[in-house]
Amino acid sequence: MIKVEDAIAIIEANSKKMPTKVISVSKSLGYVLAKKVISPIDMPPFRQSAMDGYAFIHSIRHQYDVVGISQAGDHSNTKLKSTEAIRIFTGAYVPDDADTVVMQEHVMANKDSILIATMPEKLSNVRPKGEQIAKDEVVFEANTLITPAGIGFLASLGIAEIEVYKKPKVAILVTGNELVQPGKKLKKGKIFESNSVMLQAALQTIGIQKTKNYRVKDNLKATKKALKSILKENDIVLISGGISVGDYDFVKEALLQNGVKELFYKINQKPGKPMFFGSKDETMVFALPGNPASSLTNFYIYVQPAIKNKVGFSEIHKTKVIRKLNSEIKNSTGKTLFLKAKYDETNVTVLDGQSSAMLNTFAVANSLLIVPENVEEYKKGELVTLLPID
Ligand code: AMP
Ligand code: MG
Repeated sequence: MIKVEDAIAIIEANSKKMPTKVISVSKSLGYVLAKKVISPIDMPPFRQSAMDGYAFIHSIRHQYDVVGISQAGDHSNTKLKSTEAIRIFTGAYVPDDADTVVMQEHVMANKDSILIATMPEKLSNVRPKGEQIAKDEVVFEANTLITPAGIGFLASLGIAEIEVYKKPKVAILVTGNELVQPGKKLKKGKIFESNSVMLQAALQTIGIQKTKNYRVKDNLKATKKALKSILKENDIVLISGGISVGDYDFVKEALLQNGVKELFYKINQKPGKPMFFGSKDETMVFALPGNPASSLTNFYIYVQPAIKNKVGFSEIHKTKVIRKLNSEIKNSTGKTLFLKAKYDETNVTVLDGQSSAMLNTFAVANSLLIVPENVEEYKKGELVTLLPID
């Protein structure tokens, strides 16, 4: 049995980044950049008007003759005298002579002239060339997550393709004779299978949209056979159940017989003790406990950071939060506890239903409260550490 921190460190030490690929910016949401991106242009590429109004050379004068027009998309570089202005619109090219734009609401316009009622400061309403970014500057460093705004920014610079880390192929293998798919009739002694959809959803929150799902009965031969091809075809294998010490738990044996190297088995924590982590070639194997709350807890603690690491994030662990405890907690187990909890701006409440089989309160929790193995008691009002969850 190993400590939580050691388990996390072993996983990190055995995690390799995915290979990279070049993809279209329009399809890059949720990917992480493998290389820094350099801007090919100044943005804006020319001095742009930020308003609908009139461009002119700033002075104490209020009266100007209107001698031209510049619409967005035009390139009319009208020569201006100190007594002249041009009509201009948002996004349009500001003539090289002009230094200021007055918004049309601040002007009294006649047929061919204007009177500026409210004089703007010099340089107002002109977006300087390269204001957002200059040519050859870094747009994004490597390991940046691509967001909707990021996609917009890259497109605004004319960048159509970027190099990102590939997403891993993830398989979920569910074990258990007792499991029935939701939607089917529930016979006596059976339960509905819930871990696969739960883990799939948890994967979606970190950008893994597709998984391959498999099911086997509690049978060594069948488990071994299923794992043979699953291990070959995937980068990450998540297994649910069958990893404890019961007579019908065959997952560990099936993994070892398939040549998976054991990196640890069993962690000094509650819930989630019976977990196996191993690897075969480049494939990482997480055999998670069958109990639903244990399975999801260990997903958040171990699988989520491992996947974030593989797909290129630089920050793989969520920032923990500190809150004031609303009640007392006793820990006589000598194990690290992960308690379903709900925090607000100042306090945290430990929820009912901490059993490893129960999801009823996990479903409304926003965090796991961490009680380290060497802490026997937290008093009401003490500050405690939480891992926020999605
Ligand atoms: P195991 O780790 O296989 O001994 O399973 C521990 C508990 O979790 C048992 O009560 C199982 O019925 C339950 N369980 C295992 N797999 C699932 C699953 N996929 N969905 C819901 N419950 C499960
Ligand atoms: Mg089982």
